Amino acid sequence: MHSPIQLLSIDFDGTLVSRNGGPALDMQCMELIRELQNAGAIWAINTGRSVDLLETGLVEFAFPIRPDFILTMERDVFRPGRNGEKWEPFGDWNERCARDHAELFSSTNSVLAEFVDFAAQKTNARLIYNTDGLEGLAAESEEEMERITEFIRQARAGHPKLDYQRNGVYLRFCHADYHKGAALAELARLIEVPREKIFAAGDHHNDISMLDGRFAAMPSCPANAISEVQDAVRNASGYIARNDHGAGVCEALLHFVNPKKLSGLKRPDSAGLPRL
Ligand SMILES: [Mg+2]
Repeated sequence: MHSPIQLLSIDFDGTLVSRNGGPALDMQCMELIRELQNAGAIWAINTGRSVDLLETGLVEFAFPIRPDFILTMERDVFRPGRNGEKWEPFGDWNERCARDHAELFSSTNSVLAEFVDFAAQKTNARLIYNTDGLEGLAAESEEEMERITEFIRQARAGHPKLDYQRNGVYLRFCHADYHKGAALAELARLIEVPREKIFAAGDHHNDISMLDGRFAAMPSCPANAISEVQDAVRNASGYIARNDHGAGVCEALLHFVNPKKLSGLKRPDSAGLPRL
């Protein structure tokens, strides 16, 4: 009997990792993911972090297990590197993604300039730039972010491909066709896992694209997820956990998986793990 879950797409900050002062990781969640990996499931971290910041996080929080794939910046798809590099682009998705973004940002230059003026004059937000130009911003508060997103929604009216990803007080401009859900769909296509076998978990605005049921038939969120995320998960007939962060992910995984069915599948190298 195989696990019903073949692919796990899990957000990092606020979902796997708690920063509320207690332990950052839920060890039972880590053990369960390891058991699922041993039973043949693929674990992807789907995050707004860059590759480097994610690697920093994996070390900082002393993750006992490694993801099989990473989906970064809410858009890019990486697989383990073959030439000594930790990660390498999987297929040509990242290249197409970069090209589409370059074209988008050059064609929406005037809207973005208008936005920079608005942000400088009417907000205390800190604009964030990368080597290609404006990347996004950090707002002073959630209320300020509401005003900022309202401005963007109006300013982008004539530019349907100009979108943004929001995570707490952070916002990143993006092409409307690229988000966590699209990156997950591309990974699933490349490794040939159907939507029905995909589990996803996240806690904030930027996770909704992978939790609305389009790309993952088993969406979930921990109890600390914002109400918009809980609504999306509920509408997609997913699972809203009663526990926060990693404990909530663990609870959601157990909701979709019968752990007894996994125990017979363990490879010898996992024999020392506690039974769930
Ligand atoms: Mg998060």
